Formats: sequence, C-alpha cells, structure tokens
Amino acid sequence: MTRYIFITGGVVSSLGKGIISASLGKLLQSRGYRITIQKFDPYINIDPGTLNPYEHGECYVTADGQETDLDLGHYERFTGIRTTRDNSVTTGRIYSSVIERERRGDYLGKTVQVVPHITDEIKRRIQLKATKEDLDFVITEIGGTIGDIESQPFLEAIRQLRWELGSSQALNIHLTYVPFIAAAGELKTKPTQTSVKQLQGLGIQPDVLVLRTEHVLGDDVRRKVAHFCNVDVEAVIQSQDLPSIYEVPVNMERQGLDAICLKKMGIEPGAEPDLGEWLGFLEKRKNASSVLTIGLVGKYGLQDAYKSITESLAHAGTFHDCKVKAVFINSEEIDRNNVHDRLEGMDGIVICPGFGQRGIEGKIISAEYARTNDIPAFGICLGMQMMVIEFARNVLGYHDADSVEMNPGTTHNVIDLMEGQKTVTMKGGTMRLGEYACSLVPGSRVWEAYGRVDSIMERHRHRYEFNNLFSREFEGKGMSLVGKNPESDLVEIVEIPSLRWYVGTQFHPEYSSTVLKPHPLFMDFIKACIEYGNS
Ligand code: GLN
Repeated sequence: MTRYIFITGGVVSSLGKGIISASLGKLLQSRGYRITIQKFDPYINIDPGTLNPYEHGECYVTADGQETDLDLGHYERFTGIRTTRDNSVTTGRIYSSVIERERRGDYLGKTVQVVPHITDEIKRRIQLKATKEDLDFVITEIGGTIGDIESQPFLEAIRQLRWELGSSQALNIHLTYVPFIAAAGELKTKPTQTSVKQLQGLGIQPDVLVLRTEHVLGDDVRRKVAHFCNVDVEAVIQSQDLPSIYEVPVNMERQGLDAICLKKMGIEPGAEPDLGEWLGFLEKRKNASSVLTIGLVGKYGLQDAYKSITESLAHAGTFHDCKVKAVFINSEEIDRNNVHDRLEGMDGIVICPGFGQRGIEGKIISAEYARTNDIPAFGICLGMQMMVIEFARNVLGYHDADSVEMNPGTTHNVIDLMEGQKTVTMKGGTMRLGEYACSLVPGSRVWEAYGRVDSIMERHRHRYEFNNLFSREFEGKGMSLVGKNPESDLVEIVEIPSLRWYVGTQFHPEYSSTVLKPHPLFMDFIKACIEYGNS
C-alpha cells in the first residue's frame, strides 16, 4: 500500500516547504521506506524552463530531461533518489492533458470542468509515480500558499484524495509562520490560526503543523496552536532558523516529525531512523577548519539563481574539510579596468550558466583573468562557452569570435547552434535536455577526477555548442577537448592541461551532486582551489 503525505503552506511563501518535504523524505528513507517526493506548482507555464530565474530561482533539470522547480534539486540532494518528469507537475501540464483529451473526444457529450476533470487529473498525477514504482510513501509538496486563487483545484484534489484513501493512507502537513513582533516582544500565533481556518474551510484538517520561526517557541505557544487548530500538541513541530538546511532533517527527527506521521497513519514507528552518514556529514561540516572563497561570476543577483552550484560547492567543500564562501560577482559590472579588484582574493572562480547577451563580456574578461593568472576556474554551460570564446579571441587571435546566440553574423562562430536546433522554433522544452553520455579522454584531468572511467552521464540544458570545425586549432594551442558525446561528437568538456585547474563543461554537473555523494568535478575543483589558496 502506498501512503500519501501532502505538504501545504500558509501565511507567506519562502517558508521552506521544499526543505521540510526533502527532510521528511530523508527521514522516511532512513527508516527503510521506499519514497518519492514530488512538486505540484499552481502556475500555468508547462514547466519553469521558460521562466526568468528572477521569478522562481534556478531551473533544475532531471536526468530524463524535465525542466523543473528548484525544490527537486533539494529532494535529490537530500535523498540521493533521482526524480523524473512525473515528479514535477504544473497547472499548465494538468490543463494541457485535459484539453488534449477533450479534443480527442474522450469526454464527448460532457461539459469539461475544473471539478471533476481538472481535479481528477491532479489526483491521477499525484498517484502516477506509484503506478510505475513500488513506493511506500509519496510526498507531494503543493507550491504557493493556500488562499492563492490558482491553488484551489490542487487543494480540492487533496481533500478528495484524503477522503477516498482514508486517514491511514493520506495525511496533511501544513507549514505556517509564527512571526516575532519585536516592539511587543511577542511571538504571534494568529496568522497560523487564520491559515489553518482557511484550510479547514476548504475541507482539509491538517494532521501535523510545522511552524516556521526565527525564535524558539516555548511549549505554551505550541499548546496554544494545538488547542486552536484541532491538532495534537506532539504534532505541532517547530522549524526554527538553523545554520544550514542540512540540519533540518535532524531537527525534524528530534521533534518526531517522521514518527508522528507514521503513528497517524497507523504504523508503529519502531527504531529511530539511521542517519549515521548524514550526521557524519554535518559533523565534518561543523568542524571544517578553513574557509575557501569562490567567486560566482554571473548575472542573476539573487540567492536562488545558482542554487545547485552553491550547494555542490558546499558538498565538495565539506568533503575536503573546508567551508565554502560563495561570493556573487555581477558579470555586468566587470570590465578590464576593475576585473583585478573584483576577482582578487578568490581561491577559485565559477563562470555561471545563463542565456543571452547581458553580462557576457564580464564573463569573458573573467575567464581571461583566470586563465592568464592561473586561478582555478570552472565554466559551466554558458560559462564553458565563454571560456571557449575568450580562448578563441585572445589565443587564436579571432577578435570577433563569438557564440551565434549573441552574434549570429560572426565569421568565427566557435560556439554554434546545434544542428538539431536549427529547425526548432518553439521555445518551451526544446533545448538539449537531460542526461547524455560523454566519453572522457584517458589521461586528462577530468578523467582522473572522475576516477579514470571512460564514460560518464551528465545532464544538459542548452541549444548552442562548441563548433567542431575549430577543434584542431584549439587543441593545437593548448585547449583540449577532453569529453565528447560518443554518438554526435559534440564537445562536452574542455580543459587547459597546462594550468592548475581550468575546466569548462557544456553539461551541468551541479544537478547531480548530493550531500552524501559530492560530484567528482566539484571535489576536484575545490581540491585545486585549496592548493591554490595555500600556494
Ligand atoms: N545559452 C547557452 C545555450 O543555450 C547556455 C545555456 C546554459 O548555460 N544553460 O547553449
């Protein structure tokens, strides 16, 4: 029997529903259960691939090529379990399949309505994973906050499912906020009470409440909330600010979030979850002696835009016993005159992924600075492309070298549109997405980094690619093409072997780094940064 846990949020957004979902998944997994975590987002875009990162942060990509919300990155990093396209659903996807069915004639004679057709489709999607895999628990996070107009069909679907499945098979966790009013010196529970009332008004009684707070809540506050919201005191859990998101599972376990969920579904919790390796990671992280400063050269100046990269750096840093301080450096503000000031003191530089013209000259100048000063540098996707362009301009002497994404008329199109992309006109979901094989050149730095394997799989999200017509010239002048797709011959990795660590990947290694399995390239990069910092 598969059990369903729904996670909703109230009062305000950004309370960390994704982290709570990932943490609960981690705890149930550590108890030996087979789990999956999925995200249902109420917006109308079919997927977040067409969204600017300023809207919802980084766009994450699953191995099977679905562009998803960044919370899926948390799910994978916490549990190490890969998600698929079924783990990410939006209103757009729901409506588009219902409309397609209507056109096919599946509902002939009937008026197609939000209830029951849209809600039925939501219910079908919630249960879809469990029809394909043996799962004990499906955790479904509902994006947005209750009260949003667009969330209504999702909440109605949850209400129906809970009724149909019964309390031993379906459970609701509601995450709310308990603000501290400094002037009054008090923690306020009213927003939580109101939010729960709103949920009850929709026919959903939360079984567990997680209260997000910046201050530790006393038992009196928890009792008060329990009393007003028809929830057991032991099912009122607090989620206070912690130094790291990776401490959340431990905090949740201490307060018995997983045990209470099991009990409410009629399962005797038994022994505590085995968090041994996870605790080892936290211990190592706490005791990390040195601090490494890594510059992230990119154009999106918000915390979540490069989430998977900062997390991958943190995983690899902990592995090498150091804390990584990732400093955002706005590439739009970098020019020849200030590049030294901006990048001085960095132990390493990441040239970030991205799209379009804005900020790319700063990335190219940064690549040049790293190359000529032999600072460890990691170019990812657009970052790799900028390393290639910089090399073509300054080493091969092609001053107009460019990507056709930025300059379609350039005669030195060292980054070109992929052949298969030339006929593509639609923007959504049409990039080269998801996992592809890459053969590594034996003896190269990356081959060593990956543990001397000949072939790897990595996830992609791009339209443009290294132009193989220039291969010989790059190789001849010292930039080696050390990873290629075995079928298409597309260049996936470049490196300059004569430098300390200068690697660009067309793929996104950051999507597959997890807490317990940091990514080999990030580990090798951090190692080089430590050595550089000590030199
Ligand atoms: N804009 C580049 C391309 O489409 C790089 C994309 C990226 O960095 N994800 O190829």
